[in-house]
Amino acid sequence: MAQPRILVIGGGLAGLSATMRLAELGIQVDLVSLVPVKRSHSVCAQGGINSVNSLTRQQGDNEWKHFDDTVYGGDFLQHQPPVKEMADWGPRIVDLMDRLGVPFNRTPEGFRDQRRFGGTLYKRTAFAGATTGQQLLYSLDEQVRRWEVEGRVKKWEFWDFLEPVLDDSGRCRGAICQDLVTMQFKAFPADAVVLATGGCGLIYGRSTMSMVCSGSAVSRAYRAGAAYGNGEFIQVHPTAIPGADKLRLMSESARGEGGRVWVPRKPHDPRDPREIPEAERMYFLEERYPKYGNLVPRDIATREIFDVCTNEGLSVEKDQLCVYLDLTHVPRETLDRKLGGILEIYEKFQGVDPRVVPMKIFPAVHYSMGGLWVDYEKSASGGLVEGSPRNQQTTIPGLYAVGECDYQYHGANRLGANSLLSCIFSGLFCASGVVAAAESARKTAAEESSRLFDAASRREEERHRGLLARTAGRENPYELHQELGNLMTRVATVVRRNDQLAAAYAEVVALEERWRNCAVSDSGNWTNQNVVFTKSLGDMFPVAKLILKGALLRDECRGAHFKPEFAMPGIHATDPGEKRREAERWCDTFEESTRRWLRSTVARCGAGGEPEISYEPVDTSLTPPRPRLYGLVGGEVIEEVWKERGARGGQADAAGKRLAGAST
Ligand SMILES: Cc1cc2nc3c(=O)[nH]c(=O)nc-3n(C[C@H](O)[C@H](O)[C@H](O)COP(=O)(O)OP(=O)(O)OC[C@H]3O[C@@H](n4cnc5c(N)ncnc54)[C@H](O)[C@@H]3O)c2cc1C
Repeated sequence: MAQPRILVIGGGLAGLSATMRLAELGIQVDLVSLVPVKRSHSVCAQGGINSVNSLTRQQGDNEWKHFDDTVYGGDFLQHQPPVKEMADWGPRIVDLMDRLGVPFNRTPEGFRDQRRFGGTLYKRTAFAGATTGQQLLYSLDEQVRRWEVEGRVKKWEFWDFLEPVLDDSGRCRGAICQDLVTMQFKAFPADAVVLATGGCGLIYGRSTMSMVCSGSAVSRAYRAGAAYGNGEFIQVHPTAIPGADKLRLMSESARGEGGRVWVPRKPHDPRDPREIPEAERMYFLEERYPKYGNLVPRDIATREIFDVCTNEGLSVEKDQLCVYLDLTHVPRETLDRKLGGILEIYEKFQGVDPRVVPMKIFPAVHYSMGGLWVDYEKSASGGLVEGSPRNQQTTIPGLYAVGECDYQYHGANRLGANSLLSCIFSGLFCASGVVAAAESARKTAAEESSRLFDAASRREEERHRGLLARTAGRENPYELHQELGNLMTRVATVVRRNDQLAAAYAEVVALEERWRNCAVSDSGNWTNQNVVFTKSLGDMFPVAKLILKGALLRDECRGAHFKPEFAMPGIHATDPGEKRREAERWCDTFEESTRRWLRSTVARCGAGGEPEISYEPVDTSLTPPRPRLYGLVGGEVIEEVWKERGARGGQADAAGKRLAGAST
């Protein structure tokens, strides 16, 4: 019997690692990408990739602690078996990438250098200067090229994935894609399809993500029937460089190398920051979280920065919200060697040398924890069964999702440097299961597949022609996109309120209606970027709606999702008895919120295109949820109460017992 053929959509880290592994397994792969694979968004990743390593092991670290930091960081919203498997694979993945030629930074002794990232007390992050994503991507690209030369892989760059083709039983049999140069349509029959199409930041207009991260591919799979998980969990990175066109990341590695976040104690202090004495500066993260300091997880750092600027009125500037991120105390040689790439970005766009003057930064939309819902098969040891066709499979049989476009690994908040790991892990790990699924699919191959592909091609051609014919529409797609981005940024980022979310949902429905009236200024049928953008804009609305509806319905605070009316009560009392009572109330609220809301949001595209939301329980079989305090000053009494509840047994039992040994 002939070998199966597999279609991989997306050539970032997740897509390339899946392609490499499938080719190694002897499979023919078609690799489709909107942009040349070396220009995939992964090329922008800066700070590094996490894994337990020999240095951290000497300090008592192990894979379990990496797993535990990840689920604690994600506010316990992710299924634990896939996270455990990923943490177990971490050291092997970094070793593999090292052997494939990634020039990781070295210590003078020749060992891989490591830095600390947020949400952990260990230096788990391996890095290649400040261009880690680029080095990883180029190394995987080399491997895929090797298989291309062998004839095992065929690359289709500048092709747009338009829809998965499903047979009458609902199984994915391939896809329809469009050549972005000739604008021709092509059917790609396949025994399984792997989506590795990255995040959806463009829905927010300006973000740290690349301009191709529109989420269009995921939206097309969702509309074809694939469920979407935890859409409302969008990460807002604490440190970005504000810009009129785009928000550029200032990587967490800046804080990993000693960067300190502060504001002048005097609001809008006009002095040069270098002239403001230490005593007149507020290092608010260090003061409030002395244990983790500037490296608290992103959701916490972002809210603190936002709060300092908006509620405490301590923004550095009056007309623009920002705080200082200060690296001026770190030796220039260290900065150049370890952070050169990102400091050049700051200098280029701000015209100021951050080695000499503190940077001005503010939070920005950065990452989607949510994505296509994917399955897994749990092993007896609590990880995953390798080779199971269920791993990474969406709700459409034969359609898989890996990398940032799946919802599996990061729960309510992703830890820095865990994404590159989850992308490479999910790409590599899923391959054997995809092959098993593809092999069994061949036995039941749809006899009338040409009928399916012809019908799908016709549908896409009609949609395309319909858009090209819209030269007389009243709406400008680029202006509509700006309106959508501004709206989403205003209501669905750091702070969310139900009245605003409900109103925004209605506004998105209205924008989608206006989109039907978009004029396409270029009616030509050769490299027509105008029509491609208009199409992808149309695909942003379904995802925007599921983000808003998921956020509206989730009445709690968890990770990146924060609603002030459901915020956990603070500990304000000074009297020990009252403090204790407040802590008891805090733990009651925590237990109640966990009971009601520790479940994943699952959105399905309803008949009229509206999201239908249901919930699934989260597998917390390896470690139970516990209060997420990160050593917050004043939080000790909560820890004390929680531990006592654990010791007494009941709901918090195991969690309370673990608390003693785990990070809090
Ligand atoms: C500025 C920045 C820095 C970061 N730094 C780090 C870091 O240091 N460490 C870390 O762990 N994480 C980091 N991240 C996150 C990380 O970079 C991403 O999550 C990760 O690279 C995503 O990889 P991916 O393979 O899933 O998708 P991508 O790299 O985004 O690739 C998506 C692929 O899908 C293709 N595609 C998309 N739509 C279509 C379509 N319709 N048809 C055909 N092809 C399509 C694209 O062409 C591309 O090839 C950073 C993120 C940003 C924004």
